[in-house]
Amino acid sequence: MFANTASRLLAHYRENARSLPWRASPGAARTDPYRVWLSEVMLQQTTVATVIPRFQRFLDRWPTIEALAAAEDAEVLREWAGLGYYARARNLIACARAVAQRGGFPETEAELRGLPGLGDYTAAAIAAIAFGRRAVVIDTNVARVVARLHAIEQPLAETRRQIRALMDALTPDEDVGDFAQAIMDLGATVCRPRAPRCEACPLQSECAAFASGEPESFPPRALRRERPHRFGAAWWIERNDALWLVRRPARGLLGGMPALPGSEWSDVPPAEPVLATVAHGFTHFTLDLAVVARSEPLGDGWWHPMDQIAEAGLPTLYARAVSAVLDARSERRAA
Ligand code: SF4
Repeated sequence: MFANTASRLLAHYRENARSLPWRASPGAARTDPYRVWLSEVMLQQTTVATVIPRFQRFLDRWPTIEALAAAEDAEVLREWAGLGYYARARNLIACARAVAQRGGFPETEAELRGLPGLGDYTAAAIAAIAFGRRAVVIDTNVARVVARLHAIEQPLAETRRQIRALMDALTPDEDVGDFAQAIMDLGATVCRPRAPRCEACPLQSECAAFASGEPESFPPRALRRERPHRFGAAWWIERNDALWLVRRPARGLLGGMPALPGSEWSDVPPAEPVLATVAHGFTHFTLDLAVVARSEPLGDGWWHPMDQIAEAGLPTLYARAVSAVLDARSERRAA
């Protein structure tokens, strides 16, 4: 069954592969590891549609890993603005420098895993796609396909070892890069979380979830825990058509990114009158950020011209806070 499954998937992939800017055509011997790595880091928690133009812009600015390694931290963080999960950007810089220093990417999964920010999935994906090394590549899409093929009745978080063993058995010794991309594509475009397109699936005849008549119910969803709610204040300090910005500490959430200065985030809402409030979802909590007017600059920072605020490289939370204040101001003027 397994050899047939892999060949059916590969045949389907050759006909239906998504054309993505970081990808070589099916059957190509190798793909540039820089492109594979950059795309995989960007795609963690960010959609393909969002990543495509950002990936192109990154490559235009830094066409090689050596160029990226030589870039200023602040420039890379600015270019990353809006992609979220800023620890990724800091690891990206550290990894680029480590790779440039050793003269290129290592080819084995074990060595790749030793690079900053590379977990099991990314290391396996680069080993397979860029270097043609046999590796068991499992992202969320792949895990779902495997769980459905075998009609696994527990949530994915409880079956990681089982899924890994099944995926290992499914992975061929050759065409490993194409196989990894084939099954990822199948999960993204055919075996979708909701409304899987079983009628277009090359694995339908061997799929236990399809045979059950309710493919979408596999794997069962884990119960969602309510995310805690936190509050913070950001200071709006404006003078001579410029806004006072600071850089957040290198470690922690939004580390190293430009921001409005402000309070620590806590469980208590600020008591002061606010100019605007934005709600923002982080992975482990939601934040209500209240923007509060202040008159004196606070902390180490700089005056950023208001008419160039879009180029400040603010992460989404602060870009939204600035827009909310400017929108409220325009509405007041129009009233
Ligand atoms: S037959 Fe349906 S449920 Fe099974 S792998 Fe294909 S798309 Fe997914």
